[in-house]
Amino acid sequence: MPEAEPEPACPLCSKPIRAGMGTARVGDTLAHTRCLAGQTRLRSVELEERAAELVRRAMRATAESAQLLTEGTPVVLTGGLTAFDAATRRVKVGVIDFTVPDDVPLGDLRLGCPIRDSC
Ligand SMILES: [Zn+2]
Repeated sequence: MPEAEPEPACPLCSKPIRAGMGTARVGDTLAHTRCLAGQTRLRSVELEERAAELVRRAMRATAESAQLLTEGTPVVLTGGLTAFDAATRRVKVGVIDFTVPDDVPLGDLRLGCPIRDSC
C-alpha cells in the first residue's frame, strides 16, 4: 500500500490544507484563502496608516514652507550670476531666477560674478 502524502500546511496559520478547503496560490506558496484574505486586510491597514503618516508629514512640510515664505527668512545662495538687470533687480544664479528685494544692496554685481561674499 503506497504511503499517503502528507497534507500541506498553510504557511500563514500552520494548519493543514485539506481537500475541499478554499485555497489560493501566491507564487509557489499555497495557503488558505481565508488566511490570505486576512493577511491582505492587515497589510492594507498598515498601508493606510503609512499613507496617513506621509500625508501628515507633507502637510507639516507645506505649512513650514509657507511659514518660511511669509517670514522672509534669509537664505544663502551661491553660484555664478548668469543674468542680471540692475533696473528691475532681476537676477539669475545658476538656474534660479528671482528679484532682489529693495533693501538688499546690489553692490557691483556683474554677469559671471561668483556669488559668495562679494565681487
Ligand atoms: Zn491558513
